[in-house]
Amino acid sequence: MLNDLKGKKVIDDYKKIIEDKNEDINAVISQDIVYGNSNGDYYGIPFLVKDNINILNTSMTCSSKILKDYRSVYTATVVERLINRGFSVIGKTNMDEFAMGGTNEYSVYGPVKNPLDLNRVSGGSSGGSAAAVSCGMVPFALGSDTGGSVRQPASFCGVVGFKPSYGVLSRYGLTAFGSSLDQIGVLAKDVFDVALITDIMKGKDEKDSTTISFEENLMEYLNKDFSDIKIAIPSIVYDKIQNENVKKAFDNAVNKIKANKVTIDIVDIPEMEYSVAAYYIIAPSEASSNLSRFDGARYGNRIDGEGLTDMYKNTRNNGFGIEVKRRILMGTFTLSSAYYDAYFSKAMKVRNLIKTKIEEIFKEYDFILTPTAPVLPPKFDEKLSPLDRYLMDIFTIPANFAGTPAISVPFGNIDHLSFGIQFMGRRLEDAKLLGFANQIF
Ligand code: GLN
Repeated sequence: MLNDLKGKKVIDDYKKIIEDKNEDINAVISQDIVYGNSNGDYYGIPFLVKDNINILNTSMTCSSKILKDYRSVYTATVVERLINRGFSVIGKTNMDEFAMGGTNEYSVYGPVKNPLDLNRVSGGSSGGSAAAVSCGMVPFALGSDTGGSVRQPASFCGVVGFKPSYGVLSRYGLTAFGSSLDQIGVLAKDVFDVALITDIMKGKDEKDSTTISFEENLMEYLNKDFSDIKIAIPSIVYDKIQNENVKKAFDNAVNKIKANKVTIDIVDIPEMEYSVAAYYIIAPSEASSNLSRFDGARYGNRIDGEGLTDMYKNTRNNGFGIEVKRRILMGTFTLSSAYYDAYFSKAMKVRNLIKTKIEEIFKEYDFILTPTAPVLPPKFDEKLSPLDRYLMDIFTIPANFAGTPAISVPFGNIDHLSFGIQFMGRRLEDAKLLGFANQIF
């Protein structure tokens, strides 16, 4: 799709679609424009950026009250690389506050509606980016993925969502949530566009020491013919799918993929059972530390009080929403000296076990296949507990733990909704993963 748009000035056409649809969908929360380099080969083509990624002189709120008036003082490396090639930013997308959530209901701007069914959530935390691409507001958008936040909303909204291997994309300019897990990712209508955008953004950045130089050209793999591919499905998938329709859709998908002359085996990765528990210790722990910078002195809206401690309390109490507070409390507890060994250090051991087991599976298999989420996008009036929400991440978290690439592709429908499957690939074999996903998509 992007190559068809090359050379055309389509920014205004897309802005018109945002104008028409955003009142219903609520995907876009600010519309500062940053034009791309007019000599770039993609000049005239717009994209949207999740509102936890900095772009100089534009609004960045992380969908939080605490940053409501904040404007960025620098630009994320990945955005800069896209701008250099001509792409223009036309706004920022709604998200769960500080990327904590899976339904986009935790936003100070209100929830994002799923374009495929307005009574259902778009998924999260990059729900605004997924919904915007799904209903044609932009050809592609950026999101961030700490435990599934690019792949799960992509699956709920019927688009492609890709989280590269940890280190392929610079995190410079991304507001940190769980730094050892966070990766920026791309949402688009097809695998081709995801590869094209990732190719432009990828690689070493001296401003993020965790980046790696990644020379492989992702686009080159798109038309390769993959044969003798071996795919593993963790048996736990069949215990954890919570919905009969999802089970059927997954079985259908597996049968169709088998027609591509691949071997599919069911394997045991019992450790995956504990990924949610470990993630909801590790991610809040890292978050509680990362979010300590929002203190009313350095960033964001300050609410004064009697003395410094009072000011901190007022600012943070008033500025953070319920889920962010819950995570900060959990994370502060699990990192405290009395409980560190019992929780944080154990969770890190579990993370390592899961990572090691996944690496073992990848000695024999090329990909691990699961549904992207065990459920259909919930309706807004379903009363989900925090635990119900956390359990939706069971299939997406392992890729963040292991730093492997993973992609969600739409693969069939359940009534009027879309069903997404996830392929996880070997670490740094991003090109092969995208190539194979393109072959079967
Ligand atoms: N749903 C997960 C969470 O709430 C994942 C979030 C993410 O990937 N940013 O933490």
